[in-house]
Amino acid sequence: PYDILVVGGGPAGASAAIYAARKGIRTGIVAERFGGQVLDTMTIENFISVKNTEGPKFATSLEEHVKDYEIDIMNLQRVKGLEKNDGMFEVELDNGGVLKSKSAIISTGARWRQIGVPGEEEFKNKGVAYCPHCDGPLFEGKDVAVIGGGNSGVEAAIDLAGIVQNVTVLEFADTLKADDVLQERLNSLPNVTVKTNAQTTEITGEDNVNGITYIDRASGQEQHIGLEGVFVQIGLVPNTEWLDEDVETNKIGEIITDKKGSTNVPGLFAAGDVTDSPHNQIIISMGDGANASLGAFDYLIRN
Ligand code: FAD
Repeated sequence: PYDILVVGGGPAGASAAIYAARKGIRTGIVAERFGGQVLDTMTIENFISVKNTEGPKFATSLEEHVKDYEIDIMNLQRVKGLEKNDGMFEVELDNGGVLKSKSAIISTGARWRQIGVPGEEEFKNKGVAYCPHCDGPLFEGKDVAVIGGGNSGVEAAIDLAGIVQNVTVLEFADTLKADDVLQERLNSLPNVTVKTNAQTTEITGEDNVNGITYIDRASGQEQHIGLEGVFVQIGLVPNTEWLDEDVETNKIGEIITDKKGSTNVPGLFAAGDVTDSPHNQIIISMGDGANASLGAFDYLIRN
């Protein structure tokens, strides 16, 4: 069996595996897609000490760093279940295989909820964006829309208003759902327009995004706004569907961890976007992975 088995091969998992291997213990990492969300990223400019890089390049260096250690890498393997029997974790793979480990770290990440309208897929990274911290500066001085009037949408709009020319917030319901204090802040900004009752129907463009079409649900009329960027902010979904109920999660399915990265199950840790940590970034996920790994090592020497 492994001493530490890491489930998920994004920034959090890679960091957890390296920290574990550096303790000289048996370490494995299993991932559906080694690299994780970074593979879908164009430019990365906020990984401190690396001024500018590209996602796939970053993913390759993650993998190279992991391969520098004695770590069993099981890529292109989906995990479908995890159980603890007689103090040993059993991780079940889609292909029927079972991996055993004394402790485990879950770092299966998250995915942005998609709006699912024509143009979204086609213009991804060509004007359609999901992360204002990552991609906001690419739209400096331009007009953008934010789809979603919940906390994340309104926070994104406030953030973007300081960078771009104009922000239009499109909310499907008849009111914004964000906290009052955020709404007040939003309403105080001169370059933000809020459209409620707005059902987005299409993101338009040629090579890049050139506008957004929505139906004003109050009048039934179709409207079109010319702009260069669309931030989809309708929620982030943690990849925890495969996990059973014994592991404590919050109401949106994110794994609840303590300061050591420990879950409610002794010996089971979690790190990165899959947890209830408030901000999802590469640098944060990596720190989280290191922290969970040291937490797991601490657990192993006590048990
Ligand atoms: P992920 O990167 O999501 O990795 C999860 C891993 O788990 C993957 O290997 C996946 O295949 C695996 N996995 C999932 N389910 C299973 C399963 N059932 N079985 C086995 N394996 C599984 N952050 C920045 O800091 N800067 C940026 O510029 C930036 N730009 C971004 C741009 C885009 C388009 C996106 C989508 C995100 C961006 N982010 C950026 C956010 C950043 O990518 C994430 O915060 C980070 O990747 C989270 O790392 P993670 O290891 O927690 O999860």
